[in-house]
Amino acid sequence: MKTLVYADNAATTKLDPFALEAMMPFLSESYGNASQPYGFGLVARSAVKNARNTIAECINAEPSEIYFTSGGTESDNWAIKAAGLRHSKRIITSLIEHHAVLNSCLDINRFGALVSYIEASSSGIITPDSLDRFLDCDTDLVSVMLANNELGTIQPIKELCALSHEHGALFHTDAVQAVGHIPIDVRSLDIDLLSASAHKFNGPKGIGFLYIKKGIQLSPYLSGGAQENHLRAGTENVAGIVGMAVALNNNIAEIGNNTEHVHHLEQRLLEEIKARGIQCHRNGCNDGLPGVISLSFPGKDGEAILHRLDLMGICVSTGAACDSKNTQISHVLKAIGLPEELAKGTIRISLGKYNTEDDVLKIVEGLNKIVNGNI
Ligand code: PLP
Repeated sequence: MKTLVYADNAATTKLDPFALEAMMPFLSESYGNASQPYGFGLVARSAVKNARNTIAECINAEPSEIYFTSGGTESDNWAIKAAGLRHSKRIITSLIEHHAVLNSCLDINRFGALVSYIEASSSGIITPDSLDRFLDCDTDLVSVMLANNELGTIQPIKELCALSHEHGALFHTDAVQAVGHIPIDVRSLDIDLLSASAHKFNGPKGIGFLYIKKGIQLSPYLSGGAQENHLRAGTENVAGIVGMAVALNNNIAEIGNNTEHVHHLEQRLLEEIKARGIQCHRNGCNDGLPGVISLSFPGKDGEAILHRLDLMGICVSTGAACDSKNTQISHVLKAIGLPEELAKGTIRISLGKYNTEDDVLKIVEGLNKIVNGNI
């Protein structure tokens, strides 16, 4: 039987077994509603409280600044719609954001807010200078992602945030790809809003959080009960919340080792590709998110490479996971000015903490067969 080589960790990650173990009681015997005052409900409530404390500690926030959501898409929608519609003036974002941000911006544009798009450099970076050109005192919100999901590029968030504050704008960052993979300190970055999603850091799917800095008034995202300080109604996903906290805590505790391991695999992959004379161009820059590697193969078709690797039991992506049904050229590759011929021949390999050297060698062997025709 073919063993699976999973190299699409930017799409989703394998659940940490300790997270699964911690979730199990809340999917079975401890099924109480965290909002009920009796002892059985309090078990769930105290688990949610502990998880909130853990998550806050992982990003140097206060527990009261963590709001549980259903994931990255919801967190982005909430941040953009609630902050961007405060005065319905102007929001600035970048051309390389995830569609959860871009389409939320289109929505608020329909309600009358002006949306401006910052261009990225050819290596996929949003520079403070490029933001400065757009900022004025009418700007309500600036939203720039912490790390790009297709290229792995890490943005100069601290500088972008300081510049936005100088003009009185709030700063949101979509940190969905970054949380649990690189150290994040919301206090030192001074950001106002940050989106995260558990399934990108070895937690369960369908759960995430929005960090909202103390003192920032956002309108509720879901109306109903009093959960999440009256801002996001709905019975808490206790198992998801608990699993997310364990997964994040484990990734943060091991962040140095995980980075070293994934970085080593990344270097090995690039060396082996070179050693076999597989012609390709790396997009983005080398010091991005560990393990996210965007490669363009001149004259080749990325979709065809993906499907042929799939036949070998290897999972990679051509771009953003949620765009797998969209065969158009990725908006990110377009935004960095990659020629169409290269963009069409692009795949994204994203390695994670559970990958091995053997996985890397299998990927390179697969590419060698497909790209060089060495069967
Ligand atoms: N933002 C970024 C940068 C992402 O990569 C993704 C998912 O790929 C999302 C947002 C959406 O997150 P979720 O799948 O949790 O809705």
